[in-house]
Amino acid sequence: MRSLSASEWLKVWEQGLDQPLWQRSLTLLAAACPEWSSEQLMNLSIGQRDGLLLKLREQTFGSQLTSVTVCPQCGDRLELTFTVSDIRVNLAIESVDALEPLSVQFADYEVRFRLPNSLDLAAVAREQDPVKVRSELFDRCLIAVSYPVSDRAVSHQRETQFSQSSVLPESLVKAILESMALADPQADVQLALKCPACAHHWQATFDIVSFFWSEIHGWAGRVLREVHTLASAYGWREADILAMSSQRRRLYLEMIAE
Ligand SMILES: [Zn+2]
Repeated sequence: MRSLSASEWLKVWEQGLDQPLWQRSLTLLAAACPEWSSEQLMNLSIGQRDGLLLKLREQTFGSQLTSVTVCPQCGDRLELTFTVSDIRVNLAIESVDALEPLSVQFADYEVRFRLPNSLDLAAVAREQDPVKVRSELFDRCLIAVSYPVSDRAVSHQRETQFSQSSVLPESLVKAILESMALADPQADVQLALKCPACAHHWQATFDIVSFFWSEIHGWAGRVLREVHTLASAYGWREADILAMSSQRRRLYLEMIAE
């Protein structure tokens, strides 16, 4: 993973502006991780992808994260501060080959499946109904289902490709989802929150993609304003202003303000 210059960050930001979140995450990683092909990045599990994004976030803006949320009970505004290491799960993300299919045995069933990746998110991106999104994602991750079809006594097994998770028993679906969550813990980061005003406890999902993107978006707006002010005052080129350190830009801006 490499560091990006200010002008490279602005290019990435421009590229991602019109993209859905799943694609923005890959645009960020493609810029910072040229050692990974786009196909490899698409095939990372969501937890692997988010682990890399956390690393890139830490390298770019530091390890402290600050977020604002609202208490669902009393509506009070809460500022949360935590660090990357508070929410990082140590994952082996060195190789996508390490992503072996998983399996669950349940009653007479044996199901082989894999973890969801960005290709799956891309495939369901147009679907609006969150229930359909979840069931389509689930179906895409099923590899094979073995189950007894005729006489259970002879335990005749048939392996088949399933296209509908609805035919599986509900408890089996639950076992598969639990196994997926265990295998890819970075994909679902939950923050345990407590409201200081009303003492209400709840859990909130932390999504590194939208969090990091909104930080980049805010940064891009600030930097472009700085470029505008410096270019207006001194007539310097955008590329030259962006090539300066942020400290140097700030000093010139202070001198203009004096
Ligand atoms: Zn509250």
